[in-house]
Amino acid sequence: MSVRRNVVRKVVILGVGSVVIAGAFMHRSSLRPLPAPVHVQESGYELVRDEVGRLLESGFGRSSRGRMLLEEILRMLDEEMIVFSSRLDGPRGLSWSELLGRRIVYVKVLEMNNDNYIHQLPWQLAEVLCHEALHSLKGGVEHSSLEEECDAFAAGVCAQAASRGEEEEDVLTMDGVVIGEFVLRSYSKAARDHDYEPLGWTREELSRRCRLPLDL
Ligand SMILES: [Zn+2]
Repeated sequence: MSVRRNVVRKVVILGVGSVVIAGAFMHRSSLRPLPAPVHVQESGYELVRDEVGRLLESGFGRSSRGRMLLEEILRMLDEEMIVFSSRLDGPRGLSWSELLGRRIVYVKVLEMNNDNYIHQLPWQLAEVLCHEALHSLKGGVEHSSLEEECDAFAAGVCAQAASRGEEEEDVLTMDGVVIGEFVLRSYSKAARDHDYEPLGWTREELSRRCRLPLDL
């Protein structure tokens, strides 16, 4: 919110025209999480490529939904849209939308002493990146609907189960809470989207597996 307010203020100060767009863009860019050093990006990319390669062979990766998510992660890697940073406070992953439309996914890495960094475990990376890949495919970041968040969390927990060699739950949960309930609680300001089309699932399937009522 404060980012938006600052950008708006800057726009008012600078007037209209291309200078405004550049100014707002630079302002916003300056608030991005600081990337970890290059060797951390390289080791992270290798880790993600290995994990995606492994997951493509799993039941999840062979489903059309899983394949679309994993291919989107590979595309994001190719286009260097994934950035490892030790400066994300809370979340393990964060989508960042630049003002000119470019989307960056920041992934948390732990900074230790002496330029040592610790990556998240492969199943955690699978969860975070499949969640963000779903947003990348369905278009929402800052204004995603409740349905899209359910879809994204469902994508994440299914990828996590595949990565750990576990069976997917039929009714999907996050930390023991059914996803529909978790999302309704955590994203209470997000709007419903009654026309939302889940990725590779029907609306009924999303509703049933997340226990998100369709008619609220
Ligand atoms: Zn999300």
